[in-house]
Amino acid sequence: MHVAMIGTGYVGLVSGACFADFGHTVTCIDKDAGKIERLQGGGIPIYEPGLDKLVADNVKAGRLFFSTEAADAVKNADAVFIAVGTPSRRGDGHADLTYVYAAAEEIAGLVDGFTVVVTKSTVPVGTGDEIEKIFKRVRPDADVAVVSNPEFLREGAAIEDFKRPDRVVVGTDDDRAREVMRELYRPLYLNETPIVFTSRRTSELIKYAANAFLAMKITFINEIADLCEAVEADVQHVAKGIGLDNRIGGKFLHAGPGYGGSCFPKDTLALVRTARDAGAPVDLIETTVKVNDERKKAMAEKVVRAIESDDLAGKTIGVLGLTFKPNTDDMRDAPSLDIVPALAARGAKVQAFDPEGMGEARHMLKDVEFKEDPYAVAEGADALVIITEWDQFRALDLDRIKLLMNAPVLIDLRNIYKPDDMRARGFRYTSVGRA
Ligand code: NAD
Repeated sequence: MHVAMIGTGYVGLVSGACFADFGHTVTCIDKDAGKIERLQGGGIPIYEPGLDKLVADNVKAGRLFFSTEAADAVKNADAVFIAVGTPSRRGDGHADLTYVYAAAEEIAGLVDGFTVVVTKSTVPVGTGDEIEKIFKRVRPDADVAVVSNPEFLREGAAIEDFKRPDRVVVGTDDDRAREVMRELYRPLYLNETPIVFTSRRTSELIKYAANAFLAMKITFINEIADLCEAVEADVQHVAKGIGLDNRIGGKFLHAGPGYGGSCFPKDTLALVRTARDAGAPVDLIETTVKVNDERKKAMAEKVVRAIESDDLAGKTIGVLGLTFKPNTDDMRDAPSLDIVPALAARGAKVQAFDPEGMGEARHMLKDVEFKEDPYAVAEGADALVIITEWDQFRALDLDRIKLLMNAPVLIDLRNIYKPDDMRARGFRYTSVGRA
């Protein structure tokens, strides 16, 4: 099959490369000429484990192409995917659909013959209907089926998630479109991936419901963590004790500084907006958003309490990890963006290291001195804060860290160390939800 992927970001590039690896011919299109130039030159604009090889192999095999021009690829495509960004609209939290509609307008002018137009971007219920209207207006003669096929991949494990998903969701009532989607995902039939065919509106809602549920689960365990601290219980044991119940499940029960990233914050907000507009408010999600926002802000206070000094002027705080989670360079809505400025505002000098996120972080975090490794961050620090649980932070030479620090204060917002061990090593150790 021939695929045109409009938008070559975290989702478009991974999806495009994986579809090419399935054997389809894929052109990834982006209006960002720098990005396309880099890809054409063999570079990868984002950090995602395994993506460089997957892209290189499929380019070499003649199945994966990159372009800033949509015309040829769309004309020849059996399926055109829209994988552009849908950030929060400023002011009201609704998903900003400007990029989606602009892409739809452009595609409408280009399609030739029966074409399945697929929204892979996360879009609110009814967006497919609007895209259909755009096609009717711009190209009343076009033979298209507009399909919803939300993406559930996680950054950091994106290729594995795309190739071995828990399920694929396809929203359409069109038989021809269903066949094209089946053919595109044929390799997944071999490993018996469930494919959920449903209506377009239901499919659009499934994506938001999934993300809202996961955000709620994280927020739930975070609240239980706070309670654990108050009553001297251990949240990790609570998580294990409840997670072994199949009805609950052990995933997404890691207490931490609050969820961030490119999806949960904006998708929970957008769902709240959709639900209010529909006259069916989702109170649980509204509360989740509020609790999580407050939590991210409260984390700086947790650091202040650990340092046992209200005045951070003259104090140096080392920060390990800036991205919203490990194995990505994505800084969007990362908890570090709340925590670091709050510490700096209280007068602390902040020095930080992140294995992949510093390029982006430099544009987003002012008043931070970026260091080349964790030991340089520890040097002269009055406290060290672990914000993102990169593997390399799990295996630090702690004796060396302690020697380098001004005071052995460690605030582990991801619970990657054990309180007893850390105390035995002579650290004043604070974590989340553990006495
Ligand atoms: P991104 O910002 O990394 O990529 C979007 C790309 O689209 C950018 O490179 C941009 O230049 C390009 N673009 C915008 N308008 C264009 C146009 N008209 N023509 C060509 N290119 C255009 O975004 P992302 O993280 O890949 O997310 C894309 C969508 O997928 C969003 O709706 C997001 O919610 C959803 N999603 C993201 C993830 C994730 O982990 N990042 C997971 C699942 C779903």
